[in-house]
Amino acid sequence: MATDIGQQAKTWLDENWDASVPRDTWLEMVVDSGWAVPSWPREWFGRGVTPDESREIAQEFRRVDAPGSGQDVVNLWAATVATYGSEELKAEHLRDMLLGRTNMCLLYSEPGAGSDLAAVQTRADRDGDEWLVTGQKVWTSSGRTADFAFLIARTDWDAPKHRGITFFFLPMKQQGVEVRALRQATGDSRFNEVFMTQARVPDANRFGEAGQGWLVLQTALAYERAAMGQAGRRRAHADSTDAVRQAGDEASAPIPDVTLLDLARDTGRATDPMIRQRLMKLHAMRKVNEWNNERAKAALEQGTSSPIVSLGKLAMSGILHTAGSLQTELLGAEGMIGGLDSPRSADATYSLLNAFFTSIGGGTDQIQRNIIGERVLGLPKEPELDKNIAFRDVPKA
Ligand SMILES: Cc1cc2nc3c(=O)[nH]c(=O)nc-3n(C[C@H](O)[C@H](O)[C@H](O)COP(=O)(O)OP(=O)(O)OC[C@H]3O[C@@H](n4cnc5c(N)ncnc54)[C@H](O)[C@@H]3O)c2cc1C
Repeated sequence: MATDIGQQAKTWLDENWDASVPRDTWLEMVVDSGWAVPSWPREWFGRGVTPDESREIAQEFRRVDAPGSGQDVVNLWAATVATYGSEELKAEHLRDMLLGRTNMCLLYSEPGAGSDLAAVQTRADRDGDEWLVTGQKVWTSSGRTADFAFLIARTDWDAPKHRGITFFFLPMKQQGVEVRALRQATGDSRFNEVFMTQARVPDANRFGEAGQGWLVLQTALAYERAAMGQAGRRRAHADSTDAVRQAGDEASAPIPDVTLLDLARDTGRATDPMIRQRLMKLHAMRKVNEWNNERAKAALEQGTSSPIVSLGKLAMSGILHTAGSLQTELLGAEGMIGGLDSPRSADATYSLLNAFFTSIGGGTDQIQRNIIGERVLGLPKEPELDKNIAFRDVPKA
């Protein structure tokens, strides 16, 4: 039975939801009415309700297929700024972020620091009220269009690796930031290399204390993984930042196994018991992951970076690989044809290759397994020989 707030959301939707209203206008209505992030305080676009009530509101929105709610959990950008940004930064950016009007990117990975992010060598040196940033990042999704970036940089070379990192909100459109496109296996060019030479970031754009950026990063990564754990439900012609943006809208979208079932029928394979079994297995994996995502969201709403998020992301990676290979197998020899000669084969090839976006981006499958092993199953931690020595003394790639 709907609670008071659930009933209020339902009534508001009955009175206002109109699928023909332009998306931008609709999102403004949702954000300004406090439905986008209901668990946040009223002064920051929320309604001060509990996480459970916020989930119920998001369900009401999904019920009528209206976008914009549930962003308190899956909007990586806004949630991180709301948690760590100054009052001035929140006033300047939160509304635009909730409306999807700020282009963002993540400057985390480097040529020598991917899975081991604590090994970053991009440096930030204090210069009055600013920091000067120099170094190279790689695999930066949406780098060319970004207005701002979440950046991790080393600010203390004498501290051990996890304790000398600081998290910044970096303006991208400035001299000193150069973005170069990279080309992917799918033929897309969605991510980039970013070179920073004495790029400037105000100290007011620092999230958390200097040297405590690792803690901030854990929260931001948990939001990213939660979004990726759900994002693959849409046919994923998107990179991770797109996925993060979209995930809010598709939190419980219907599971599109229908496409694969149709393909099995079209190719005369729907009566093959082995194919039927694999279709059902995929359906079950999706269903379980959907429930798991609800648990992960509940944990995030309570402010913890739960390892359940890693389970969801790992599961979604398995789902996308399984779906891609089943789609290709159903097509048989036709699966080798590309382009306009067989659009459905081109689509299958894309699905197969694009599955790697979830199994690598935001932390690889192996890293998610490490997290689950250590934090869920209680297995011994991996040896970390460089954990307690000054970073400047650690041998580097
Ligand atoms: C589509 C996509 C979008 C991305 N977008 C961004 C972005 O916007 N911003 C950003 O900063 N980065 C981004 N990345 C980078 C991504 O986060 C890294 O690729 C990822 O963290 C892996 O790092 P790496 O590529 O350096 O691989 P490595 O860390 O070098 O890993 C190589 C292999 O070794 C395995 N491995 C490494 N360490 C361990 C360990 N301890 N235990 C077991 N196995 C291990 C890995 O699983 C992997 O198979 C993106 C990547 C992809 C694919």
